[in-house]
Amino acid sequence: MTEATIKEPKATAADTLLKIENLKKYFTIQKDKTVKSVDDISIEIKRGETFGLVGESGSGKSTLGKTIVGLQDPTEGTMFYNGVDLSTMDRKDKALANREMQIIFQDPHASLNPRMRVGDIIAEGIDAHRLARGQERQNRVYDLLERVGLRPEHARRYPHEFSGGQRQRIGIARALAVNPKFIVADEPISALDVSIQAQVINLMEDLKEQEGLTYLFIAHDLGMVKHISDRIGVMYLGKMMELASSNDLFAEPLHPYTQALMSAIPVAKPGAAKRERIVLQGDPPSPVNPPSGCRFRTRCPHAMSICAEIIPDFREVKKDHFVACHLYN
Ligand code: SF4
Repeated sequence: MTEATIKEPKATAADTLLKIENLKKYFTIQKDKTVKSVDDISIEIKRGETFGLVGESGSGKSTLGKTIVGLQDPTEGTMFYNGVDLSTMDRKDKALANREMQIIFQDPHASLNPRMRVGDIIAEGIDAHRLARGQERQNRVYDLLERVGLRPEHARRYPHEFSGGQRQRIGIARALAVNPKFIVADEPISALDVSIQAQVINLMEDLKEQEGLTYLFIAHDLGMVKHISDRIGVMYLGKMMELASSNDLFAEPLHPYTQALMSAIPVAKPGAAKRERIVLQGDPPSPVNPPSGCRFRTRCPHAMSICAEIIPDFREVKKDHFVACHLYN
């Protein structure tokens, strides 16, 4: 069957696949209590890049990923896919955009239906988007299994018959089944043994090359995204704190929060200079009642009086290096 693709860019630069403007995702948990999980985030993701997104639990990174792929509706803000505002797309284009944007989840065990055979799990998207039927569908499933390092006969088995790493490969095959252009990988290796993590990362990098994919790769620590990301965004309590190329961020982290995350990464090379460990005091504050001004101020070793009063702008302080901190205003 022939597959349509989304129209070419209109409103954004040709190398921008996804543009997010002032995106907010709030959850009302009780009367008068709102969690601002994603609070006014604006980013662009370039075609073919891996954009790493890091932050502690509760930073809003997973909510941002799920909102981007349409699993949750934004509270406010605009998202352009291929230059077209997603909220103004007609049904046909929206369906195509939904197909081209896929997600891989953190816990491959929880995200695969235990009562379905692996072949049917992988083919779910193929069926939903009517991409193939009969033998063509079957061949496509076999091909996908082989592309992620599994075997065609695995199609008849159930998820519990596989290891954690193999289940994540099945999750990747399911995402690839509909020929996506953009994949949100929501902590795809966090639940895996360290020995398996590198294999899944290598597979994802190979597939990115072969399929021309763009990734939003979400992780809770910087060490995990360092080697695979072209650029990295650092989130804290729903806000973007810093954004730069992976090289620039590691060479010169500017935001005190990024500096603290960086100091916690073990130095792998023998003989390399040790970083001074910056220990953050306390846990992140509740997102229901975040601190006034800079949200990081209650844990920041450099906090000043202005930090409690004014939310720092997210500004470009060096070429392509953005930071939200009064130290750089
Ligand atoms: Fe620290 Fe103030 Fe910068 Fe926030 S704005 S990170 S509290 S110095």
